[in-house]
Amino acid sequence: MKTFFNLIQEIQKEGKCNLCGGCVTFCSAINHEALGVDSDGWPYFKAIDKCIECGLCYSICSQTNELDNEIKKDAQWKEPFGKVIEISVARAKDESLRDMGTDGAIVSAILIHLFDTQRIDGAIVSKNTRYGRVSFLAKSKEDIFASTGIHFTKSHGMVDFAHDYSTFSPSTSELKELKNHSLERVAFVGVPCQINTIRKMQALDLVPSEIIKYCFGIFCSGNYYFSERFLNLLEEKYGFSCKEVKKINVKEAFIISLFSGEQVLIPLHELDRVKRLACDFCDDFSAGYADISFGGTGAPSGWTTAITRTQIGKAVFNDALKNKLETYRVDDNPQYITLAEKKIKIMSELKKQRADYSKTSLENAGIKVIG
Ligand SMILES: Cc1cc2nc3c(=O)[nH]c(=O)nc-3n(C[C@H](O)[C@H](O)[C@H](O)COP(=O)(O)OP(=O)(O)OC[C@H]3O[C@@H](n4cnc5c(N)ncnc54)[C@H](O)[C@@H]3O)c2cc1C
Ligand code: SF4
Ligand code: SF4
Ligand code: SF4
Repeated sequence: MKTFFNLIQEIQKEGKCNLCGGCVTFCSAINHEALGVDSDGWPYFKAIDKCIECGLCYSICSQTNELDNEIKKDAQWKEPFGKVIEISVARAKDESLRDMGTDGAIVSAILIHLFDTQRIDGAIVSKNTRYGRVSFLAKSKEDIFASTGIHFTKSHGMVDFAHDYSTFSPSTSELKELKNHSLERVAFVGVPCQINTIRKMQALDLVPSEIIKYCFGIFCSGNYYFSERFLNLLEEKYGFSCKEVKKINVKEAFIISLFSGEQVLIPLHELDRVKRLACDFCDDFSAGYADISFGGTGAPSGWTTAITRTQIGKAVFNDALKNKLETYRVDDNPQYITLAEKKIKIMSELKKQRADYSKTSLENAGIKVIG
């Protein structure tokens, strides 16, 4: 039976741990408490004597290939980027929500709709702080407004985004919080590796994954950690000040929107050295296991591309369309869905190539690659 010891050897030591916190969350959820998270977010054996060697932390880790066949079967996964029922380009009807949203703010609009219609009593999202994203258990639609987009306030503009900043949010860790609240129906928003962990937990019926009724995935080309020094270099090279940053977004480029309305576009390859190492091994761009996947890729500015993948995802999306969302008019661009699909395909292919290259490089260095 492989345990956390094997996660240390095969995943952490190879630089493939994405710090999702899934292993720690599960071990705590079943009250073994053998694992902890250090101040840098790394899971570690906090009390090795409490480990009963159940092996479940290894099974649910998104970076191992355990349970891949099961979750692929459950999701009816298809090449090249998972099952697709429908692709849409949409935005929230609410203009103020759009102003805060990353793209078209449809993730937030759908969550608000689910709260309004009492289909959820909680949502695991992430919200911005001056040091980066933190995971957050939203319990009302007001909480959703606070977590929309990656935006900064003018009042704190003097300090926000001017220190070390990480785009990563350990949302899976927030599952631990669920046992402290009497919630029954929760939506989860996360990047593809986090959705992967939730699906593995659901495949094994592990608590508290049964409370997660909706899995909303966001496209992901990588997560980035910006040191203050690196931010200063970017400021100098691209001629902006962190104090002027209103919003950030990741699409084909890293997009920094300033309070003045100007945008600074930084090519993603320029951020390779601040990308988390684990992301180089990840081959899921469009969250192939989600109920609905969302991203800016393929959509015009201010709109979001959504891929509905399950019947439950389709039902929620269509229901939200009635009063919370509007779709891009086909008349404006009859080719838009084909173009969106094409771009997602290209991004997915590029990500797979990068993951294969990283794995081959490790193998060439004589290191056995798992996952
Ligand atoms: C690190 C990162 C990389 C991305 N890379 C791409 C990309 O390459 N191409 C692309 O098309 N799209 C990418 N996206 C997705 C894109 O930025 C938007 O999240 C998506 O288009 C939804 O936009 P929206 O305006 O509809 O959502 P909003 O209504 O603004 O809601 C966004 C939701 O995402 C949650 N969220 C934000 N950051 C995180 C995080 N780090 N971890 C977990 N949840 C989070 C928020 O809590 C909120 O619920 C990336 C997102 C992130 C966080
Ligand atoms: S008790 Fe199970 S979940 Fe916890 S560390 Fe040991 S093997 Fe992993
Ligand atoms: S990737 Fe997640 S589940 Fe796997 S070892 Fe790292 S923190 Fe644990
Ligand atoms: S690139 Fe993959 S491993 Fe990295 S944060 Fe995104 S989904 Fe997770």
